[in-house]
Amino acid sequence: MNPVLSALLGLQEIDRQIFKVESELERLPKEEQQRSEELGKLRERLAGKQQEVASLRAEIKDIEHTTVGLRQRLKKLESESSNGTADAALIASYQHEMRNIKRNVSGAEDDGLKRLGRAEMIDEEIAALQQKLAEDEAVFAEFQKNVAEETKAAEGKLADLHKERLTKSSDGISANELDIYRGLLKTREGEALAELGDGLCEGCFVNLPKNIVVRLARGTELVQCPSCDRILFTY
Ligand SMILES: [Zn+2]
Repeated sequence: MNPVLSALLGLQEIDRQIFKVESELERLPKEEQQRSEELGKLRERLAGKQQEVASLRAEIKDIEHTTVGLRQRLKKLESESSNGTADAALIASYQHEMRNIKRNVSGAEDDGLKRLGRAEMIDEEIAALQQKLAEDEAVFAEFQKNVAEETKAAEGKLADLHKERLTKSSDGISANELDIYRGLLKTREGEALAELGDGLCEGCFVNLPKNIVVRLARGTELVQCPSCDRILFTY
């Protein structure tokens, strides 16, 4: 095999592992952030429901207050129209007002009951949300603990891999070839090389033109796959 290819294959073996560990180190904090945002949304939803139910209860209190006042007025009118001091015209006016008050009280009571029903429904939603939040928070705490452990392990592994990489020779690989190789590691997710297998690139599974296969067989230059750009090799 072309000595440059053989050196690149040696590097690839370790760089593939470095890529995997580095990806893991990037993924872990992102996932933690995402899960933390989801918890935040749940907390916001809960706070919104709590606010909604608090304002409903305040409205119910107002309604109760109003109906107490109306009932007191009703009692007064009843006693005044029956104590014998009012004339017929006044009694008629009292009765008119009393009818109005009764209608208003009845309307207010319906209103209060509707709000109460809604408040009770929201109370149930709040209880369910609180339970879900408690569960999710416990899961998240466990996840965070694991992330911390996995991150530490990955950092240790990465340091070892970098040490090991220093022992690999890149003798004979030109600066330009190394640049191409490094660029491919990034764009091709840690796999810069691909084997030629039965006329196709095993990196992207595209059939290779005859001239590519011939150039590779000559072994005098680096040959890249025209489709995925990976550096081709064959044993
Ligand atoms: Zn390819």
